[in-house]
Amino acid sequence: MDVFFERVTIFDGRGSRPVTGDLLTCGDRIAAIGDMPPPPGAVRIDGRNLALMPGFIDAHGHSDLSLAAAPEGFSKISQGITCEISGNCGLSPFPLTEHNRPHLTELYRQYRVPLTWSGLTEYRQMLTARGAVLPLLPLCGHNTLRAAVAGYERARLLPEERHQMRRLLEACLDEGAPGVSFGLLYVPGCFAGPDEWQELMQVAARYDRIAAFHLRSEGNELLEALGETIAAARAAGLTRLHISHLKTAGKDNWHKWDAVQEMIGCARRDGIRISCDRYPYCTSATQFSVIAPGRFRQMDDSQLAAVLQDGAARRELIDGLMASGRDWQGTILASTADPEWRQYSGRTIADIAAERQQHPAVTAAGILQADPLSATGAFCGMSPANLRRILALPYCCCGSDESARPADESIGRSHPRGFGSMPRFFRMMLADGFAMEEAVYRMTGLPAAIFQLADRGELAVGKRADLVLLDTGAFDSSATFAAPHLAATGVAGVWIGGRRVL
Ligand SMILES: [Zn+2]
Repeated sequence: MDVFFERVTIFDGRGSRPVTGDLLTCGDRIAAIGDMPPPPGAVRIDGRNLALMPGFIDAHGHSDLSLAAAPEGFSKISQGITCEISGNCGLSPFPLTEHNRPHLTELYRQYRVPLTWSGLTEYRQMLTARGAVLPLLPLCGHNTLRAAVAGYERARLLPEERHQMRRLLEACLDEGAPGVSFGLLYVPGCFAGPDEWQELMQVAARYDRIAAFHLRSEGNELLEALGETIAAARAAGLTRLHISHLKTAGKDNWHKWDAVQEMIGCARRDGIRISCDRYPYCTSATQFSVIAPGRFRQMDDSQLAAVLQDGAARRELIDGLMASGRDWQGTILASTADPEWRQYSGRTIADIAAERQQHPAVTAAGILQADPLSATGAFCGMSPANLRRILALPYCCCGSDESARPADESIGRSHPRGFGSMPRFFRMMLADGFAMEEAVYRMTGLPAAIFQLADRGELAVGKRADLVLLDTGAFDSSATFAAPHLAATGVAGVWIGGRRVL
């Protein structure tokens, strides 16, 4: 059905000043923009007092399997997102082999989707068959690649395994992956050194695709990690380097911002097109198991689950957590599938421990033992001032770092960024004095350029009719850790490929 938007304020996604006019879609494309009479047969939408812009591109998402389980993609679409770069932080749901399929089946168990495919094309067919509404553009994850050839426990790869990993990446890029992602904080990516990253970066460079990095360290060794990554890109001849959820984690590292900006600026002047994404919050969230100390840190979640069956190992874990000096007031249990612990979701470990009258390390160990695989944590410790400096970078786009979820919590509880990243990013940009068209560009045209999405991110004749209609004054989010599943306000309509989805 063709759609005719009348007398609407049009933001083109390229950062131009908005104009008032009409826009017509035909099938899945934009057919005309300007002043025109309403064509017969088209659905007419009165756009007065509303703004029409390209659908938002989530530059960093994790909907890889959640979208298969809840195909409507509500948390994303309700905030105006019409496309997501998925497969981030080294974790993509392909390529699957006998070496990584059992582990990933466990990891994704809550979604109840049998992992029957091998490569990207088959994975995509599965999403289509399940009726996924939100288009995903998945990066190929290094952790999944590495595990596909050598599993999750091996520190060093043999030369033929590295060769095999490169071939698997090439196959994914041939099948249309926009690039490769790294998650060097996680097993088994943490075992790889710069030589291994560099080999895969060379493959990406040969295809003129991007490499997206969750850096080895985002805090205490941030500068070293960023330096190694840039050096590997330079050595690999890679010109498209993306830093995922850029941050200075931990108060002691907040002062490193100027050095980070200088290093990135220097590399950009050398011709490496560094870009970044960021969610507009100062609390991060990831698997709760990242707090595991010492030798437990080297284990993947299934190994951790097995080891913690043993009483001596549990005591060792508690001792390690006590010695870790972690700020329990700033550590939140974001979500868990465990029936005993679920009631505490959204509260700090310090708070839960006080209620249970135990040491916070005992509380944290209890959660790790009960649900090492799917418990997620939220961690305070990012600088609000640095967040604003990061959002001010002209090459920073908005990435939610979340998976698509329904309004209910049937497939887990979201960080508030899952429902609120786009409106909050938009509001923070405006509050910091940026023009509205610049904020729109950062959520549309910029990520489309970074990830080379030729027919997205822009309102122009012939481009995909991925559109969001906004009441810009009302566009906002009130999602919090206590009530994260609240849809954005001010979204009047969303179209994907010309079809209305909200
Ligand atoms: Zn990450």
